[in-house]
Amino acid sequence: MILYDPSIPISLFAYGIQIPIHDSRAARTFERLKTDPRLAPASAWHRNSIDTQVTRDDVARVHAPKYVQDLFTDRKRLTDIIMATYELIDADGKYHRYDPDGATKPLTDLFQRTLRYAAATAECATLALEHGFCYAFSGGMHHAHPAHGSGFCLINDIVIAARKLQAERDLKRVWVIDTDAHKGDGTAAATAGDDTIVTLSIHMARGWPLDAPPTFADGSDNPAHIPSDIDIPIAAGEESVYLARLQQGLAQLEAGGSADLAIVVSGADPYENDALPSASALNLSLGQLMERDQMVYAFLKQRAIPTVYLMAGGYGEDVWKVFAQFLTWVLPQEGFGR
Ligand SMILES: [Zn+2]
Repeated sequence: MILYDPSIPISLFAYGIQIPIHDSRAARTFERLKTDPRLAPASAWHRNSIDTQVTRDDVARVHAPKYVQDLFTDRKRLTDIIMATYELIDADGKYHRYDPDGATKPLTDLFQRTLRYAAATAECATLALEHGFCYAFSGGMHHAHPAHGSGFCLINDIVIAARKLQAERDLKRVWVIDTDAHKGDGTAAATAGDDTIVTLSIHMARGWPLDAPPTFADGSDNPAHIPSDIDIPIAAGEESVYLARLQQGLAQLEAGGSADLAIVVSGADPYENDALPSASALNLSLGQLMERDQMVYAFLKQRAIPTVYLMAGGYGEDVWKVFAQFLTWVLPQEGFGR
């Protein structure tokens, strides 16, 4: 099952934000799957309506009261939060990769769009519980911390969906398996001390969001360094040991007990052709990424754990290939071959 509503764009250009997230990564992936003669017709595996609502109460299960209030009720604060979260002002106070004159939509509309992504994640998780597998062409906003947005992530749809389903159904434990190039720092912070959500993050050992030290100059802790339950840092040049380290991490995850749901934050930005400079320290080939995705899929399938996948990071014109190659392989595994 694939959840993809093409009426919700992924690109940020309409807001004047020039971060290279292209609608093509979803649209080209979808086009490839739709026209692949080895796959069943799209009507068999595609859902495009998102009926779930993510409410303020759902957001408040994860985020701090003041932050929730600012997001939902204070347009001035919301604008400031978006400017900070998307890093639209540089250290000199000048606009950074931001052209408000080129915008066709108000910046604050981004929050409503983000709530729709969170709703898609929650709905896809529900579909995964019913069908075993659901892949959302959105979501994975793993840098959103309890009290602030960060790294293009306003709210943490991953933990919002996990806690929403825990509140509505009998889910004792949820795994978050995060293979995006960047550490899932917001997810780790939001679930610290919560042993019902167990987090694994395999990521670049250095660079954003780990480039600032664990303690700031004023003595306060840098929340980006809050550990996941299992962190697997990969140093520059260690691509050849990536898959073995991931396999070890999955075994370690299972050693803590099984789960009722897994959320895979399946970023494409470890790809060697990804266009985001801050993801350039990890350069996996298409073949390595296919092995990564097949390893995680097989691990969860063999244990019959319902799994929701989220697209997460992936920048530039080439990253759709990472998503398309895995989905072309996985849909027949899920019974959607010809
Ligand atoms: Zn990323």
